[in-house]
Amino acid sequence: MSNVLNTFLDENLQDLRTQGLYNEIDPVEGANGPIIQVAGKQLINLSSNNYLGLATNDELKKIAQNTIETYGVGAGAVRTINGTLDLHVKLEQTLAKFKGTEAAISYQSGFNCNMAAISAVMDKNDAILSDALNHASIIDGCRLSKAKIIPFAHADMDDLRAKAKQATESGLYNKVMVITDGVFSMDGDIAKLPEIVEIAKEFDLITYVDDAHGSGVTGKGAGTVKHFGLQNEIDFQIGTLSKAIGVVGGYVAGKKNLIDWLKVRSRPFLFSTALPPGDVAAITRAVEIIMESTELHDKLWDNGDYLKKGLIELGFNIGDSETPITPCIIGDEKLTQQFSKRLIEEGVYAKSIVFPTVPKGTGRVRNMPTAAHTKEMLDDALAIYAKVGRELGVIQ
Ligand SMILES: *Cc1c(COP(=O)(O)O)cnc(C)c1O
Repeated sequence: MSNVLNTFLDENLQDLRTQGLYNEIDPVEGANGPIIQVAGKQLINLSSNNYLGLATNDELKKIAQNTIETYGVGAGAVRTINGTLDLHVKLEQTLAKFKGTEAAISYQSGFNCNMAAISAVMDKNDAILSDALNHASIIDGCRLSKAKIIPFAHADMDDLRAKAKQATESGLYNKVMVITDGVFSMDGDIAKLPEIVEIAKEFDLITYVDDAHGSGVTGKGAGTVKHFGLQNEIDFQIGTLSKAIGVVGGYVAGKKNLIDWLKVRSRPFLFSTALPPGDVAAITRAVEIIMESTELHDKLWDNGDYLKKGLIELGFNIGDSETPITPCIIGDEKLTQQFSKRLIEEGVYAKSIVFPTVPKGTGRVRNMPTAAHTKEMLDDALAIYAKVGRELGVIQ
């Protein structure tokens, strides 16, 4: 190894470890369900994004297996050569129906989708108004486009309006976009989409909502844009197929001309192999399940509300959560990591989330209850929270 690289790695890794910012990864030994096995131990799992339990759904497993028998394990090419299977077309029609739009396009991941979609439309002569707490993939997608990035204070509509006015009146930019998460993954709060749409109309902003944590969760399962009835107002509806949908992939839903453009101009669609057939068939059925019934959605919210109520009664700070995403904000990074470590030792898998994923000094243990948890599992988790919270002086 080059000496320069070796020194760089050693110094920086050491620095992260000293600051308590180095994240250790624990492999899960088996399926990522409500109970997981880590290092041979059974733990109540409050860390997955498998909101509806679909990642381990029996019907979806069968569909994936049967599809693999017919189509094989890989798509074989990028979408534009001959990697577009009839299954991809059906998936995209289903996604458009799900989101209430004319058309949709799928990508290999939600992260990839933001790399693809923003830079297909925005360039160095444009500007993007971006919520300060937007997901890393949105930030990277914005950077890749080379547009001027203008952050606005999280969920602060006065700040957004002032910056939208300034950007559009400056004459410096051809196009201006406003971009936001639908549900903020670290706090569980919902974007103020009605106000954002109002501001966008006033200044003719392009609207872009990444609802990775909203689909399957908000709007009776249909997501945050439909929750507010704004499917005709939002230009880009982004989602992931890896969270509530339970598999892998990402998509953009919108007007037909937008999707047509992304099919000829978005680079991950043109230069990276299509989603594999077994996954595509499972995803399509997962979306249908969410459209057919709110049963899993209702169970998820029931469990989320139950866990929140229990944590608040114990005296924890759960921040501004409006969704099943339930942070326990501890603050100090090292204490947060110690808290999470003790929870795991006692039987609850709830990971610490610290800088740089969240701002410094706002370290938290994030809880993601799912539709697959039982009340008994949640009661056990709350008892462990009480014990560890008192032990570490986080609660009285
Ligand atoms: C998780 C997440 C992504 C990434 O989705 P993947 O499908 O896991 O790549 C993108 N955007 C937001 C807002 C997310 O929360």
